[in-house]
Amino acid sequence: MPIPLLDLRAQYASLKDEIRPAIDAVLESGHYALGPAVEAFEKDFAAYCGVAHCVGLNSGTAAIALLLQAHGIGPGDEVITAANSFFASAEGISEIGAVPVLADCDPETALIDPASVERAITPKTKAILAVHLYGQPADMEALRAITKPRGLLLLEDAAQAQGSLLRGKRAGGLADGACFSFYPGKNLGAYGEAGAICTPDPDIAARVRMLREHGSAKKYHHDVVGWNERMDALQGAVLGVKLRHLEHWNAARRAHAETYRKLLPAAAKPIAQADGTDTNRHLFVIRVPERDRVLAALNAQGIGAAIHYPVPIHLQPAYAGRWKTGDFPRAEKLAGEILSLPLYAEMTEEQVEEVCGALGTALA
Ligand SMILES: *Cc1c(COP(=O)(O)O)cnc(C)c1O
Repeated sequence: MPIPLLDLRAQYASLKDEIRPAIDAVLESGHYALGPAVEAFEKDFAAYCGVAHCVGLNSGTAAIALLLQAHGIGPGDEVITAANSFFASAEGISEIGAVPVLADCDPETALIDPASVERAITPKTKAILAVHLYGQPADMEALRAITKPRGLLLLEDAAQAQGSLLRGKRAGGLADGACFSFYPGKNLGAYGEAGAICTPDPDIAARVRMLREHGSAKKYHHDVVGWNERMDALQGAVLGVKLRHLEHWNAARRAHAETYRKLLPAAAKPIAQADGTDTNRHLFVIRVPERDRVLAALNAQGIGAAIHYPVPIHLQPAYAGRWKTGDFPRAEKLAGEILSLPLYAEMTEEQVEEVCGALGTALA
């Protein structure tokens, strides 16, 4: 039997009886954009993350753009983020006319490297958008030591980190604000597009609410040119149901990751976990020799291994001319070595064992 990277249908099968009534209630309510289902989810998710405010949006990318804009960041301002992230970490910065500046990663944890961040600071720097890559929280203490004396904002790209912890505190509440994605493949995923920001600041929350709704706080009165980035009511209802299962799903992912760690062949090195971090195991990423050959061998056996991400942001054609090969050597080296193995809550121990067996054969 093939083993996919992620099996969203297995999750739906386990939730069907809870999800259908929640969806029906929205359909019958006549309220399809924002509304009570979204408000209830915002409240629950803020409480879960341990922050005062959550604002529901249409995507994680919108969360990045609107949170930065709400903080007054715009054209000419520089925001530092990770070279080895999903493209949207930089894209959200570019969308508001600000300038993404990249930092290299730690070679062991693959997380944004504070020393590289510090070197990237210029007089135009306004914020650091730390990425909790693969779900593992970035080194927020070291980053705070950099931002605090300079009066810079420290924000989280927590798109992959729903439920992750750093020294017992949940991602989303580790800095001056956080961006979440609820894209279907994330640990907490909608049945469509969705995202949110979390913030301790009521004025920032109000500003994002205004920006997401055409720059208007009062219907048909537009204070600024905003966006249409409201969360759908259906997604709010789905996320409200799924949030109640997140801890249990994350625990199952952590258990599978432990099994992987025990059974992996010696040549496969898992990405290191830093002290004090408790990742939600969004992705289980290893480094292997001859990665492309190993990936092809696994895929040929029906194992849905994949690469997150094959091309670092600085080498994407969208930013051609801005950077060159060699600018972020650690990110480039990792991109040639990493491999994500199948991981989802509904997976069985036997499937984890099967992946490890196939990996052993491929590496032999
Ligand atoms: C998924 C993701 C995003 C973007 O989220 P969308 O909802 O797809 O717009 C941003 N940053 C990271 C690190 C992500 O993984």
